[in-house]
Amino acid sequence: MATGSLTIDLAAIAANWRALDALGGGSCRTGAVVKADAYGLGASRVAPALAQAGARDFFVAVAEEGAALRKALGPGPDIYVFAGHMNGDAAAIRDADLIPLLNSPEQVERHFRLLPRAAFGVQLDTGMNRLGLEPDDWRGLRDLVDGNGPRLAISHLASADEPDHSANAAQLRTFVEMTEGLNAPRSLAATGGALLGRAWHFDMIRPGIGLYGGLPYADAVPAVRLSLPVVQQRDVAVGESVGYGNAWHADRPSRVATLASGYADGLPRAIGQSGSAKVYAGATACPIIGRVSMDLLTVDVTDLDEVPDTLEMLCEHQGIDALADLAGTIGYEILTSLGHRYERHYAA
Ligand SMILES: *Cc1c(COP(=O)(O)O)cnc(C)c1O
Repeated sequence: MATGSLTIDLAAIAANWRALDALGGGSCRTGAVVKADAYGLGASRVAPALAQAGARDFFVAVAEEGAALRKALGPGPDIYVFAGHMNGDAAAIRDADLIPLLNSPEQVERHFRLLPRAAFGVQLDTGMNRLGLEPDDWRGLRDLVDGNGPRLAISHLASADEPDHSANAAQLRTFVEMTEGLNAPRSLAATGGALLGRAWHFDMIRPGIGLYGGLPYADAVPAVRLSLPVVQQRDVAVGESVGYGNAWHADRPSRVATLASGYADGLPRAIGQSGSAKVYAGATACPIIGRVSMDLLTVDVTDLDEVPDTLEMLCEHQGIDALADLAGTIGYEILTSLGHRYERHYAA
């Protein structure tokens, strides 16, 4: 028995891609960010489903992910690498036909020296100060880069999930200044930027989290369901405690179910402390009680007439962002932490 059963809805992911694609109104392309194994959901299954939905431009974090993705997708789709051309990447970039988004003068020099004529793009820093060529570096390199035919010029917004943040407009202005007249398609928006409006779309939007059902794309169709098997049940008398640190005490005669999943499966230990985390039996909420262990968690099932074989951690009543809120984190982290011990099912 696995520690839980994770169902990944490929049809929902494809539907989210189509809905985000429709935001562009046909005037820009829609890529798909599948870094970190498609946000933990399995790039080898997710990316082909997105390709079938119409995606032609894929984005990964590093060349190694790109090489694995090329095997899953076969020849044809473009695969861009956010980390660019790092030291030691030349063979992978060449063999898997990857497009590094060059981030620094060193990377530009390395790529043109080791793989002259190979495809590339550029990533520009417009204010996030994380990755990308700084305006000063770019001034010196722009003509050289432009002359070699970049396939894409991108930048990334730091606060796109806050539509009113002044950094959005400032980064937009800087991006326009840095890329005006450049002989390459341009892309500024991830999920948050795509929702800001057409001015942010340029030639391509590149959503990640929105495909997988997460905020800031509030209209997304949820893409994951997680059910956890009950290992054991017991009655607990008033005053008895449950779990590590004797942290929870029964104040009524209680029925407690122990589930086969814990923080080693990516369930944040903090949900045990929050006091308001639940699992679901159908529509009925069962509070998570006591501390989350490495491989186990405990649930108050006193109010259930009958305890099912499995209880739902992620379902229509509690999505990735609701669970994230309880743990003081974000849906992205919930998804990318989903454990390798879960039995994975893909629904098409
Ligand atoms: C992760 C990432 C994306 C996708 O972001 P989401 O918020 O998941 O849509 C797009 N562009 C870059 C540079 C990224 O690092």
